[in-house]
Amino acid sequence: MHELSITENILKISLDAAAAQGATRIRTIRLQMGPFSGVVPECVQMYLDVLAKGTPAEGARIEVHTVPLRVLCRDCGKEGEVTRTHIACPYCGSIRLKRLSGREFLVESLEVD
Ligand SMILES: [Zn+2]
Repeated sequence: MHELSITENILKISLDAAAAQGATRIRTIRLQMGPFSGVVPECVQMYLDVLAKGTPAEGARIEVHTVPLRVLCRDCGKEGEVTRTHIACPYCGSIRLKRLSGREFLVESLEVD
């Protein structure tokens, strides 16, 4: 359900962008995803296959690029990046972190004809 509404959004953004460029077909949709966006790329692709039927995005491939999570350490005050498997301040090892990003899910670029 979550992925369905996200995919509708992605499709709309992509179709608008393609139309603005005068493109007739979208080959690839590149997405930027934070490690905690909670989105399953396979589901997005599955929904896109259905939703994009009859549009310039029909048959488009989803490419996901995971971006690191930016955090602010509450102990040493530095900003750093953490990954899903290593959630600690890269400078002092503290886990008292404030999340600055990581839930984003953006259309990064399109490959069009
Ligand atoms: Zn720190």
